[in-house]
Amino acid sequence: KPRDEKDVMKLVKEMNVKFVRLWFTDILGQLKSFAVPVEELEMAFSEGMGFDGSSIHGFARIDESDMIARPDPTTFAILPWRPSESAVARMFCDIYEPDGTPYKGDPRYILKLNLEKAAKKGYTFYLGPELEFFYFKSDRNPETLDEGGYFDYPLDAAEDLRRDTILALEQMGIKVEYSHHEVAPSQHEIDLRYAEALQMADIVMTYRVVVKEIAKKHGVYATFMPKPLFGENGSGMHTHQSLFKGDKNAFFDAKDKYYLSDVAKSYIAGVLTHIKEITLVLNQWVNSYKRLVPGYEAPVYICWARRNRSALIRVPLYKPGKEKATRIELRSPDPACNPYLAFACMLNAGLTGVEKKYKLPEPVEKDVYHLDPEERKALGIDNLPGSLIEAIEYAEKSELLRETLGDHIFTNLIESKKKEWDDYRIRIFPYEIERYLPIL
Ligand code: GLN
Ligand code: MG
Ligand code: MG
Ligand code: MG
Repeated sequence: KPRDEKDVMKLVKEMNVKFVRLWFTDILGQLKSFAVPVEELEMAFSEGMGFDGSSIHGFARIDESDMIARPDPTTFAILPWRPSESAVARMFCDIYEPDGTPYKGDPRYILKLNLEKAAKKGYTFYLGPELEFFYFKSDRNPETLDEGGYFDYPLDAAEDLRRDTILALEQMGIKVEYSHHEVAPSQHEIDLRYAEALQMADIVMTYRVVVKEIAKKHGVYATFMPKPLFGENGSGMHTHQSLFKGDKNAFFDAKDKYYLSDVAKSYIAGVLTHIKEITLVLNQWVNSYKRLVPGYEAPVYICWARRNRSALIRVPLYKPGKEKATRIELRSPDPACNPYLAFACMLNAGLTGVEKKYKLPEPVEKDVYHLDPEERKALGIDNLPGSLIEAIEYAEKSELLRETLGDHIFTNLIESKKKEWDDYRIRIFPYEIERYLPIL
């Protein structure tokens, strides 16, 4: 792993690298990439590379559009699916204004700001996301490749797809814990070993590219769309998270009946309290809300539990000797989010709970899908926003969200999402024709 620009310059020679792709994301987490020949690399390091920010979603206006991308040498990795002669590598970039100040519309910068705030209180933020996805015949045709279900093996059409994907991830220095067929036909999951938050956000971006590129090599299409098939499970990005102080897990307490520290408890309470405000970021598309419905292992109701997978937050049972693994699992995010902004939001919601010493409600170990509204009300269980517009309404009123994202991204995100909602709501879908035309 390179530590600085010198290491990178050495590596490109040794590895016969010809092109370096410079990566960053727009506010919705869409990857942006441009390539420089290796001869330009010194220059990219010393001065950064200019580009037109006005053409990037949520970036600058046309009248202030010059932006600079500066590669982060610690993120250098070779793209293993490209040729090894005249190889191609990539680095993530930080975005700057022409005068050298960090750009407030850069999601990577926003995550860094939030991590610095946590670091001032002594915390390091660790994350382990589980990204689910589907393989389809093409991007126009959601036809599945198999009829497999959870952990199915011979029915699994994607052994080689997953194998090649994991090998590529590992060649890029990304550690994989395990992989399996998921609940829905043609749905899969490859779980990553936990890492520090900024590194993990870069890894999530890379994972999505690798999964798609390897699928392309096999002549199929991979998608992180949250709910591509009606009547089947959607794709989530359950996110395991913990705060460390030095090498001590700040979520662990040997004396507590749940093995959770006060920090962990108020962190959970913070996420539960503020989840509705940050849902727009964790579930940012019209389609995201088709996943967050009862019956498909995706959360709908705001509560926590230890074993019950219908809860929003699950706290995996403590295994003796595994203090470091004490963590919470937030189950609402989907893999089509912007990981930089999503991680910043989770962290800030949790830390607000810690700072203000929020009280943790009792866990709900029942299947909350099957409680009736009265029972839920008695237990004080609220719902996640049910649609993009509801999420926008909570987001728009949230001081916490504005503070987490900064004014620039906050304003641009709300505006962009209102446009998406309007674009959606004026259309007529096949369902309406089928349902209404024959009877009305
Ligand atoms: N696919 C489910 C979701 O949408 C999760 C299923 C699982 O991981 N067991 O969150
Ligand atoms: Mg899993
Ligand atoms: Mg899963
Ligand atoms: Mg999980």
